[in-house]
Amino acid sequence: MTWDRVERLLGEDVLSFLSTQTVGIIGLGSGGSFAAVSLAMSGVGRFILVDDDSLEPTNVVRHAADRRYLDQLKVDAVADLIRQRNPAAEIKVVAGRIEDHTDLFDEMDLVVSGVDSEGPKYLINQMCLEHGRTAIYAGVYERGEGGDVCVIVPGEGPCYACWAEHLREGLADPGAEPELDYGMIGPEGTLAAEPGLWLHVVRIAATQADLALNELVQNFDVHREMPGNTVVLANTWLEIYEGQTTLPYSAEWLTIPRNPDCLVCGPKHAQKDSAQVSLDDLISLGQVSYEQDENESSQ
Ligand SMILES: [Zn+2]
Repeated sequence: MTWDRVERLLGEDVLSFLSTQTVGIIGLGSGGSFAAVSLAMSGVGRFILVDDDSLEPTNVVRHAADRRYLDQLKVDAVADLIRQRNPAAEIKVVAGRIEDHTDLFDEMDLVVSGVDSEGPKYLINQMCLEHGRTAIYAGVYERGEGGDVCVIVPGEGPCYACWAEHLREGLADPGAEPELDYGMIGPEGTLAAEPGLWLHVVRIAATQADLALNELVQNFDVHREMPGNTVVLANTWLEIYEGQTTLPYSAEWLTIPRNPDCLVCGPKHAQKDSAQVSLDDLISLGQVSYEQDENESSQ
């Protein structure tokens, strides 16, 4: 039996439930493609894959799809990889940008963000808030030294905008929280260095897929309560907290709080149509800043 061992681990009821669940995976680069295939191998039965790119030769060393899929759309390549693991999987492929297909959020039980740049993450956040969808976001740090994964549940805790403000540039109130050492966001809002280190990306993506699976099975015994809404993973010696080194392959859990004044999920915006708040609005209001910290950019 194909699923015999997974079934022994998760139980028949969980596996049959997972086969009915639809995971939307937005962005199918190294992390997103790995998460997609991993979820298929874990029993998830339905996928909505969103990406507008084709597989280039330079992608191959850090993508689940290999040279056999060169010049094919990543959505088609990953759909094929999923079917190679689970021929019964139902897959909707969308060769486009998520902002042109926001109605798809209604069909997703869970959203996995596979996008690198911050802009699309804010859009996913807004759509997830509007449609009441939980999303799992992952970020890989410069040179693949580490990364973080967070679970954002609408109405519980922070939205991604609160979260990012607190974590990525969260030095607004350094007295209240230990200072976090990041600085991997470049001027365009993308990672300052595209990590090409497959093993390091995959470790973050595997955690993202595992947390996605855990979220899907939240009403079953196999669900595990996690110690926070965010895990920061070290791939090498990593200074997550200033003056404190986190060892290779270890991790720190954090609970990032909701910002009551958040421009996206806060009360000010609950009164108006949040779809009217664009990323540009957020930037102009100073809530989102992509300016690189000069001290950290030279690392
Ligand atoms: Zn918020």
